[in-house]
Amino acid sequence: MQIIEEKYNWSGVFSNRSKTDYIVLHHAEAVKCTAQDVHSWHRANGWTGIGYHFFVRKDGTIYCGRPINVVGAHVQGMNSCSVGICAEGDYHTKEKTMPQAQKKSIIELCQYLKKNYYPNAKIVGHREIGDSNCPGRYYPLDEIKNMKYTEVLTMEQYNELKSLIEKQAAEIADLKNINKQLVNVVQTTMVYDFNDDNMPDWARPAVQAAQDYGALVGDEQGRLGLSYKDLRTIVREYRCGMYNK
Ligand SMILES: [Zn+2]
Repeated sequence: MQIIEEKYNWSGVFSNRSKTDYIVLHHAEAVKCTAQDVHSWHRANGWTGIGYHFFVRKDGTIYCGRPINVVGAHVQGMNSCSVGICAEGDYHTKEKTMPQAQKKSIIELCQYLKKNYYPNAKIVGHREIGDSNCPGRYYPLDEIKNMKYTEVLTMEQYNELKSLIEKQAAEIADLKNINKQLVNVVQTTMVYDFNDDNMPDWARPAVQAAQDYGALVGDEQGRLGLSYKDLRTIVREYRCGMYNK
C-alpha cells in the first residue's frame, strides 16, 4: 500500500489530537474530484485546509490529507477523537457501486491504521456518529467495516491465467505424446534376455512356463533374446495350454 504525499498550502495551524477512538469513513459527495479540490473547498469554508486525514480516489490511489496526528474537520463534535478517510465519489445519489480498486485501498488503509496506529479505534461511517447521510447509502460500509474484501480478478488477470493453463495443458499433451512414442520404441526395440524385473509382469509366468517346458532356451550365455512381439506370442501360447506339462 502506498500513501502519496501531497503538498497543501495550509491556512493557519493545527492542534494535536490526543486520542483516536474512531476511524470515520466519508464520501466526497462529488463524482470526480482530487485531494486538492477538497482542500480548496474546505479552505473556502474558512478552514485550515482539507478536513480529512486521507483521501482515496476511485482508482485506488491514497493521498495524505492533513497530518495524521492533528484534529481534523470532518465530523462535528468528534474531530478531537477521530481520523477521517474520504472517498472520491457520490455514493448517496449518483453512484451505486464503488470501484474495486477504491474499496480495496480503503480496506487496506483501515487495516494499516489499526495495525500501526489505532488498534482500538472503531471503524464507523460518518452518519453513525454525526448528523449526516455520509458516506452515502450505496457506500459499501459493512463490507469495509468487516474488512471483507474479496479479490476479484480483472479481465486481464483472468486472460493471463487462462493462457497459462492452456499453455500447460498443451505441454502436458506434448509430453503424453512423447511418452506414447517412447512406449512404442520400447515395444519394438527392447530385447528381453532374462526372466527378471526388466520383463513386463504379465509375460513372466508364461515365459517361465515355456522355459520349464523346455520350449524356450537361451543361447550359450543363457540369453533369451525375446522381442515384445515374442512375449505376446508366448503368453498366447501359454493361455492355450501349450506349456502345460
Ligand atoms: Zn462525511
